[in-house]
Amino acid sequence: MQLFKYQPTCPQCGRKAKKHTERWWEKHLGEYKGNLQIINRRETWGGDTLTLWDGETYEMYAGNFCRNKCAIAYANQTIDRVRERIRRK
Ligand SMILES: [Zn+2]
Repeated sequence: MQLFKYQPTCPQCGRKAKKHTERWWEKHLGEYKGNLQIINRRETWGGDTLTLWDGETYEMYAGNFCRNKCAIAYANQTIDRVRERIRRK
């Protein structure tokens, strides 16, 4: 996984990077008193589950790509193009 301080898009499929978030289980950790934004609160038994975000960090699962499938497809297209170019010379 790679982290970014802006929201990149996947060069292969154009999908936007997800927010890099943390989970906070009130049941085990108590009330959240930190500086992160609470972007989601889900009611669960024994205390809510919070989703926390720092307001700027996004993540891509596979380096600059959203998933391994995209990275492999992009790499193969690049090699195909290079080989095509060499063949035409
Ligand atoms: Zn992708």
